[in-house]
Amino acid sequence: MATIRRDLSELTPYKPGASIPGALKLASNESPFGLLPGVAEVLDASTESLNIYPDNSGAALKEALGAKFGLAPENIALGNGSVTLCQQVIQAFCERDQSIAFGWRSFEAYPVLARAVGVGTITVPNTADHRQDTRALAAAINAKPEQIGAVFLCTPNNPTGTTITREEILEFLEVIPENILVVLDEAYREFARDDSPDGTEFLRDEQGEFRSNVVVLRTFSKAYGLAALRVGYALGHREIIAALNAVQVPFSVNSLALAAATSSLSQEQEASARIDTITAERERVLQELTALDLPVVPSQANFLWLALGEQSQAFDDFLRSKMIIARCFADSGVRVTVSLPEHNDLFLEAARQWAKR
Ligand SMILES: *Cc1c(COP(=O)(O)O)cnc(C)c1O
Repeated sequence: MATIRRDLSELTPYKPGASIPGALKLASNESPFGLLPGVAEVLDASTESLNIYPDNSGAALKEALGAKFGLAPENIALGNGSVTLCQQVIQAFCERDQSIAFGWRSFEAYPVLARAVGVGTITVPNTADHRQDTRALAAAINAKPEQIGAVFLCTPNNPTGTTITREEILEFLEVIPENILVVLDEAYREFARDDSPDGTEFLRDEQGEFRSNVVVLRTFSKAYGLAALRVGYALGHREIIAALNAVQVPFSVNSLALAAATSSLSQEQEASARIDTITAERERVLQELTALDLPVVPSQANFLWLALGEQSQAFDDFLRSKMIIARCFADSGVRVTVSLPEHNDLFLEAARQWAKR
């Protein structure tokens, strides 16, 4: 038997949302919509060149993203889903004896990705209202700055749906050392309707210069409904982008993903109409759950967090018995994806039965 790296036995692999045939899956924050108009045709045409390696520079997609955000291609990195970009961040910005810092709860993948490359984790509990405590996080970082390579701020936060304010982010950037990379993980930004800032506003400082320690991560998996194709992007200072590209596995963004993402960006009107459907549904489901006295947290993402604590597993089991799959975080809460009205109605009916039981 080949010797497996010793610390791998301590690693709990990332657990994807469950799938059960015939059940309603509200576990992975996927889009309930099909491809945007025209994308299927573009994918179809792309099948003619699947014998050719993809464009490793992703020039066409970077051009479309550059036009959307007013950025040059050198300020954009593409990744095999933004989870892979999270991994590239850790590989490029953390030494082996260093750690990443983040609030908890946040994205389940952060600790897994860190441990996979022998990097540690430093976490700070969220506030009582399920928000990331940026002051406590800054204090934890400043207590041992040399031990930290990067900090992940997930906003809207998965799984609580809460956002970080402009003042909080500016203060955070002010007080932590400039040599620590601040990652704004905005996988759900398109669904935000509060006055929280768009992370891209922090890419540059007051003088209009790129900040040398801020990177924004986004994805086509959620709002654009391309989860299966695996494509995300990073925006930031060209040296940060160059470092991310330096650790990228060659050709890891495939040509179908590049073509579909580029084509999806030309359908902004339909994309935003679909997002509006989800955000309207989110508010409806929130109100109904609140009326049932369930501990639901207002959300800026395409999911809702029910802070059920010890009752989480029982609620999740109850949903399962109704053929609805949510995402349970034992003793903490249950995350439920907001979907089409008829799907949300099925979930709400189950929630009503649970509340009455
Ligand atoms: C879904 C998600 C991502 C990105 O997923 P990809 O499919 O890899 O692009 C990144 N961060 C958070 C917090 C997410 O929930």
